[in-house]
Amino acid sequence: MYNKIIFATDLTEDTAYLVEKVRTMRGLTGAKLYIIHVVEPLPGYSYAYLGIEDIEGQLIDEARQSLAKLGEKLNVDKHDQFVEVGPTKTKILQTAEKVGADLIMTGSHGRHGLSLLLGSTANAVLHGAQCDVLTIRLPKDE
Ligand code: AMP
Repeated sequence: MYNKIIFATDLTEDTAYLVEKVRTMRGLTGAKLYIIHVVEPLPGYSYAYLGIEDIEGQLIDEARQSLAKLGEKLNVDKHDQFVEVGPTKTKILQTAEKVGADLIMTGSHGRHGLSLLLGSTANAVLHGAQCDVLTIRLPKDE
């Protein structure tokens, strides 16, 4: 059914819910699993404003650590974990194509979303993907 699944995660508190869906889909299909988190580049002025020299470097390090933990939980090889820097939609789609994914899994909305609407990343991935996309509807906020 599916041979290669890539799970795009924003590493927020919704991740645990999505992880169970990803785990189940992987179990049902026996597919190889990849995980990706994208760090959006910060505008130059943020460095001066926050007084931290290498915020982006720190964000990348933190993302790598969080993704590594998720990789352990989901039993994903280090080489199949991607932390990319750039526009989120573009990086998810490029990486999905690079690994030859035939299914991209995302949540329906992330940090900025309203529970009834498809978030901008989910929407962009759905429209730009060459392969199937499974958009998992997140439970409504209490
Ligand atoms: P959004 O469209 O931003 O509300 O997020 C919807 C879904 O897109 C999330 O549940 C994730 O699956 C995915 N996503 C959002 N931001 C990122 C990111 N920075 N890196 C990887 N996946 C992301």
